[in-house]
Amino acid sequence: MRTERLYYDYASPEPFEAEIREIRLMGDRAAILLDKTIFYPEGGGQDADRGSINGAALLDVREAPPPDSADPSGPAEKGKEILHFVPAAEAAKLSPGRAELLLDARRRRDLTVHHSAQHLLSGTILRLTGKYTLSMHLGAELCTIDVDAPELSKETLLRVEDAVMDAIEADAPLVIHHCPPEDIRKFPLRKVPPRGEEVIRVVEIAGHDFSPCCGAHCRSTAEIGILRILAAEKYKGMTRISFIAGRRVLLDSRLLRQNGETVSRALKVPVMETGAGVLSLLEKTAGLERDLKAYEEAEAETLADALLEKAAEKTRGQGQTGAEAGDQKPPLIAGTYDRGSIEKILRIGRRAQKKTGALLVLASREDRKFAAFCAAKGADIRPLLKEPLERHGGRGGGGPSFFQGAFETPAGLAAFMGDLGEMRPIDGNVKII
Ligand SMILES: [Zn+2]
Repeated sequence: MRTERLYYDYASPEPFEAEIREIRLMGDRAAILLDKTIFYPEGGGQDADRGSINGAALLDVREAPPPDSADPSGPAEKGKEILHFVPAAEAAKLSPGRAELLLDARRRRDLTVHHSAQHLLSGTILRLTGKYTLSMHLGAELCTIDVDAPELSKETLLRVEDAVMDAIEADAPLVIHHCPPEDIRKFPLRKVPPRGEEVIRVVEIAGHDFSPCCGAHCRSTAEIGILRILAAEKYKGMTRISFIAGRRVLLDSRLLRQNGETVSRALKVPVMETGAGVLSLLEKTAGLERDLKAYEEAEAETLADALLEKAAEKTRGQGQTGAEAGDQKPPLIAGTYDRGSIEKILRIGRRAQKKTGALLVLASREDRKFAAFCAAKGADIRPLLKEPLERHGGRGGGGPSFFQGAFETPAGLAAFMGDLGEMRPIDGNVKII
């Protein structure tokens, strides 16, 4: 069924009257066929329009060969049907006859702005660098082009952006040409025209670009409003350029400003100096982190020495340890720290093990975790720790000389440490067995 195509000339939010010729149920969707349409069907890299038909929300618009077409892959575009998809439940309220079409005109404008912006951007890059655009994607949030260049410098991209802005301000008209294939050479086309078309549609941006394209476009470059290149990154030997245009630049700028103001207030610097402000803050923070690390190292050294001193005092008080009496087990130094994370305990343990061959079992009450270290040659601390760990509901693991464990409750950790020996408080903070 031939549908009159009015979408290239109709971009208004005003209702438009057409006639529903046929409704085809296709699963959970229905395809509506109209006598004429203002809805652009997906094609040429441009998404289909949205809107409604007699209140039924438009999900998609597609070109399809008519069911009785002898050659469904044939080039005769005019013979292709345009299917307007709506939810099947909403189609139940529709019937053949007069219908009101409503175009989502703001979305259409966004699509045409980005499509025309893409042509202008690709044409400008070709003019300034001699590099061709090999593919493009017009996304709902971000649009990209892949340029046949391994790299484009920041300076080049700024020049491109400025030249695009010049073209927008010059308000160059976009002119549509319909050309038979045999005459197509008269246009200096930026890309290869499609094959098998009876007529090739050429979109000209006066003075800037000629491209074969079936998309819907702005009437002049001024409608693009503004274009911003957001990023350029290496992609499969090409450069992928992300850009936005028109109203999306306004929304992007608004969001950036809001973020800038948040940072500006927090750092107490003017909004345009937030970059330098953040770098200065990061530098200060890095200095503080260095100081903190040095302090933590020194603290760990002091606490490790204190731990070993207390253990030595206790050993002197008790006489020989079991190990020295001939037992093969290394002597045990165990302690629970009331304050401090397991990271602090690990720092103390690593230092202490360099100064003793004893088995060190150090716990953080805060984190309900412990770490065990033993530098004695040939020692395997696992048999000693695994049984009480499991008996008190802890989880953990490690090797012959380093072992870590964790408990669900402080009571579990306390019972485990208690099993390793009688706990006695020292300095009210660390307890050494
Ligand atoms: Zn195009």
